[in-house]
Amino acid sequence: MFTVEIDVEKCEGCGECTEGCPADILELDGDKAAVSGDPNDCLGCETCVSVCPTGAITVTES
Ligand code: SF4
Ligand code: SF4
Repeated sequence: MFTVEIDVEKCEGCGECTEGCPADILELDGDKAAVSGDPNDCLGCETCVSVCPTGAITVTES
């Protein structure tokens, strides 16, 4: 299982992570990214981490 954390202080709302997530569990909530789908669907691929320009996302295995 993976835990996805988004630091809303760092998120600029660019949407790169929501576009790139292959599990389609990230969405923009206003101008901030959020986990909108089932967190259990996270593949741990860290695509979101790679594409985020501000380092707002961390993925940890738990
Ligand atoms: S690690 Fe991969 S599957 Fe999980 S939220 Fe990020 S992009 Fe989506
Ligand atoms: S890629 Fe980073 S800055 Fe862009 S919406 Fe996602 S968390 Fe926010």
